[in-house]
Amino acid sequence: MRKKREILVTSALPYANGSLHLGHMVEHVQSDIWVRFQRLLGNTCYFVCGEDAHGTTMMLAAEKQGIAPEALAKHYQAEHSQDLQAFNINYDNFYTTHSPENEALATEIYQRLLRRGDIVTKTIEQAYDPVRNIFLPDRYVVGNCPKCDAAKQYGDSCEVCGAHYSPTELKNPVSVISGATPITKASEHYFFCLEKYKQVLETWLSQKHMQPEIANKLQEWFTAGLQQWDISRDAPYFGFKIPGTADKYFYVWLDAPIGYMASFKNLCNTIGQEQFDRFWAADATTELYHFIGKDIVYFHTLFWPAILTGANFRKPTQVCVHGFLTVNGEKMSKSRGTFITARQYLQCLQPEYFRYYFAAKFGDGVDDLDLNLTDFVQRVNADLVGKFVNIASRCAGFIHKNFSDKLSANCYDTDLYVHFISKRSVLEQMFNARQYSKAVREIMALADEANRFIDGHKPWLLIKDPSQQQLAHEVCSLGINLFRVLMVYLQSILPTTAVAVAEFLNVADLADAGLGWDAITQPLLGHKINEFKPLLRRIEYNEVQKMLDLAAPETELKSGAEVETGTKIGVETGTKIETETGTKIGVETGMEPIAATISFDDFAKIDLRVAKIVNAESVPEANKLIKLTVDIGLETRQVFAGIKSAYEPEDLIGKLTVVVANLEPRKMRFGVSAGMVLASGPGGADLWILEPNVQTKPGMRVK
Ligand SMILES: [Zn+2]
Repeated sequence: MRKKREILVTSALPYANGSLHLGHMVEHVQSDIWVRFQRLLGNTCYFVCGEDAHGTTMMLAAEKQGIAPEALAKHYQAEHSQDLQAFNINYDNFYTTHSPENEALATEIYQRLLRRGDIVTKTIEQAYDPVRNIFLPDRYVVGNCPKCDAAKQYGDSCEVCGAHYSPTELKNPVSVISGATPITKASEHYFFCLEKYKQVLETWLSQKHMQPEIANKLQEWFTAGLQQWDISRDAPYFGFKIPGTADKYFYVWLDAPIGYMASFKNLCNTIGQEQFDRFWAADATTELYHFIGKDIVYFHTLFWPAILTGANFRKPTQVCVHGFLTVNGEKMSKSRGTFITARQYLQCLQPEYFRYYFAAKFGDGVDDLDLNLTDFVQRVNADLVGKFVNIASRCAGFIHKNFSDKLSANCYDTDLYVHFISKRSVLEQMFNARQYSKAVREIMALADEANRFIDGHKPWLLIKDPSQQQLAHEVCSLGINLFRVLMVYLQSILPTTAVAVAEFLNVADLADAGLGWDAITQPLLGHKINEFKPLLRRIEYNEVQKMLDLAAPETELKSGAEVETGTKIGVETGTKIETETGTKIGVETGMEPIAATISFDDFAKIDLRVAKIVNAESVPEANKLIKLTVDIGLETRQVFAGIKSAYEPEDLIGKLTVVVANLEPRKMRFGVSAGMVLASGPGGADLWILEPNVQTKPGMRVK
């Protein structure tokens, strides 16, 4: 008998100021598959999550919408919870950090740390908005980089030269909130003495509680020396007030991980309050798993275990770190139309496809995970429909028509069946180690074997020969039994399909009796099944296209300055992501507006060419214009584009874009403009030049 485990699993708490996107769903799917697999093995596995509700960002986002931050948090708690359920993410509790349990726990932890002498105060200087009377987080100050002078850089680091600095070092700093020049103001802050936990953390890091590449990366922090961690923020702030202070709040990152405990504490109202200590006491023998993205590693592997130790709670058993989602090889991007929300996906496609596709990609490493949409369609169709479901659909008809839905009383090929169930132990290791991609490869290799078995026996021919009916029955029955084994192996990945298969196989439930991990050691013999109904259908490319259309950036029409083409520019359906289908393509040149409507024939005359921007410079006399030198294959031209408020000239150099190449040259005050650069967006800073696929070459015609 396997030793039963007791495990608490968490996913990172989504921030409560926006909708969930597919990047979020990758993580929730990864943890959900793991949890379902533990339950399939018969382990006790609790699964909690919730909203990360606090911080300056929440406060300002709520203010912008004219509502209280509590209301904003509640709104997204409800929306996120719905989206997660729709993706079959099976949380026992989806709670919020803005809860009485979290306030009580954060306060208790703080007071325990205080009593140990782990909290000190220091006066620090920070950027302060004198108009709005608020201290400014680093990202709320922009200005010129102190190292390279690049404009519009955030207060923490420069995206151009990579320098790190504090907001007070920025040149020409501006508050993002009010536009005012920030002043420097002193304030007393509370710090957690992380350095006192150096020994504890070094020991913990050496004990394989995370992937080795993460542990190695963390060594940099020890080499640099652990610093005290600022855990307070000044009012106004949305969060919990620090006890014994008038206007200091816990920094959102202090109470966010405590939110895991609070969500579980809240769940204990249902499962018994005695469970709380069983999972969180310093000497707990149960297991604690955190699934997180690689961007929040420090919070979970340095601050969090140190704080738990100081407050006399247990440390995590495992921090499971995953990489980011890319779409067609690039970072998700609103302007490229690849920032796909969970809801946009759900409007077009079934969650099972997404769950399967990423299960087939997930390893235990921290590499980024790519949603290649062509591969997505092909892989799901080939594997799930072409291989897996196909086994059942090609056998079930004969069982229904010729054998009254009853499986044969004997197993035709015991060796083959035993070979299938012998994979249980290796698959168990793979799922446990989060090597889902390896597991899926094994399972699909078995699906190939099952299909080869059926192909080899050709039941569709056997059935026509009265003397071969018995053989046909046995072959199809074994086919169904092999399918059942595969369904159990895929059950944690495809929970909706599993429910339908339980109905088809006429087994009471997914647990031990029917589709359990141990139940499959016995094939179903002489067993009556139900009529087969299609389980999963093929994905059509137009469903993916529809999703991309939903995610495509919306563009407002500005009268007289746009061409509505209704055609796709540079789109290969289902393969590329720079699709502009159904959106308006705005033209912003800084010149006279072109005609409001044109005929299709007129449109067809437009020669759109891929152009490489080889040089870009500001036009001192015109603050909206950038002078571009573009390579359009056969020649290099000068074009003026009114995109200065959206791009710094130096950022454009090297980019590919699309130009109208046969536009009559136009003499402007500062020179001749020989063409027009296409861009989309409402204008101002929200404007994007069209950027064709990197595989295109300057001069290529855009059709
Ligand atoms: Zn810089």
